[in-house]
Amino acid sequence: MRRSLRDYVRQRVTPNVLAWETSGEVPRSFFGDLADLGVLGLRLSPEYGGGGQDFWFTVVLIEELMRCGSIGVPVAVMAHAEFATMLIDRYGSPALRETYVRGASQGRLIGALGVSEPDAGSDVAALRTRAVRDGDEFVINGSKLYISNGTIADYVTLAVRTGGTGARGLSLIVVPADAKGLVRRRLRKLGTHASDTAELFFEDCRVPAGNLLGAGNDGFGMIMSGFEGERLVLSVMACSHARLMFEEARDWGHRRRAFGQPLLGFQVWQHRLADVLTRIEAAEALTQRGIDLHVRGRAAQSEISMAKLFATETARFTATECAQLLGGQGYMEECLMARLHRDALALTIGAGSSEIMRGLIARANNLVAQ
Ligand SMILES: Cc1cc2nc3c(=O)[nH]c(=O)nc-3n(C[C@H](O)[C@H](O)[C@H](O)COP(=O)(O)OP(=O)(O)OC[C@H]3O[C@@H](n4cnc5c(N)ncnc54)[C@H](O)[C@@H]3O)c2cc1C
Repeated sequence: MRRSLRDYVRQRVTPNVLAWETSGEVPRSFFGDLADLGVLGLRLSPEYGGGGQDFWFTVVLIEELMRCGSIGVPVAVMAHAEFATMLIDRYGSPALRETYVRGASQGRLIGALGVSEPDAGSDVAALRTRAVRDGDEFVINGSKLYISNGTIADYVTLAVRTGGTGARGLSLIVVPADAKGLVRRRLRKLGTHASDTAELFFEDCRVPAGNLLGAGNDGFGMIMSGFEGERLVLSVMACSHARLMFEEARDWGHRRRAFGQPLLGFQVWQHRLADVLTRIEAAEALTQRGIDLHVRGRAAQSEISMAKLFATETARFTATECAQLLGGQGYMEECLMARLHRDALALTIGAGSSEIMRGLIARANNLVAQ
């Protein structure tokens, strides 16, 4: 799987990355290609066309996609298969799974996960988008913000309020992108340009009642259950991203000369890159520990939060250090490091920010004063 993916990424993805970054999205054919390779929906149920594999296979997919040098590319794939569709597979009716899990696995349908809102990001339990039952339908009003795949998606796994305030009143419902009353607007971002990110507006948007996942008002637990995988996805991305930046900097340090010697002739740069590499290795070890626990079905919230925190902060640290070694070259748009540098910044925000990770670690380890 790794070998065929590596060939595919080298031949069909990397040469197109600049075009995808410019257009602000990956093409639909990319999802079809991954389905043909048998790597789309790796963790989805085999009876609905998925791969039925564990998270280690997702690790291979992320690592190989990351070689293209644009985080936006794996983000589009992960938002589709791991974030939006995993929840439908886990909690949806057989009819929903037949339509969406099978369509997603075959690359015919593209998914997005809509949780964040203008007034509710980290605080998921505060979200306001409301779905009210009206006969055989739900009527949805509200808006979502920063939704990956938002304008290219065929369906959105949407977090809505169906009950009272707080975590207990939330549900998940699948909204087809062509539902009347849904309007989408692409957002412009600092980085991850190949990933389409959007704002979604729902105005009396009607969706069949059968599109609800679960029994209703049980959505908060579902969203939280998805977070473990999402945070591991970002941890793996961060480790791969950091390694790529390290390798770019090391190569440059050997090639570029100043004051009569290569930059890596200066001990200060040897030591700085030694620090970078040590942190990357530590981030990889922590991430692998989180994955191992997750795959074996063990409680791993503390370890996964630590992995997400440390790996994504390491990617930020690596970006700053490695871009500095490249000097002016690292600031130029045609230089890969410029893209890697700005892409690294999103990792500490998505799927729970570094501050939220620290809070979870504190709660899991008896660090909160009573
Ligand atoms: C590129 C990108 C793609 C995204 N894709 C998706 C997607 O597909 N679907 C989706 O639903 N969302 C998506 N998001 C949204 C992302 O999940 C949120 O941005 C994130 O959860 C943070 O929410 P917020 O931006 O509203 O920040 P806020 O919650 O407003 O937080 C702002 C700052 O305050 C800090 N903060 C908040 N609460 C606390 C606290 N209790 N203690 C200390 N500090 C705190 C945060 O850490 C952060 O630094 C995406 C975001 C980005 C940048």
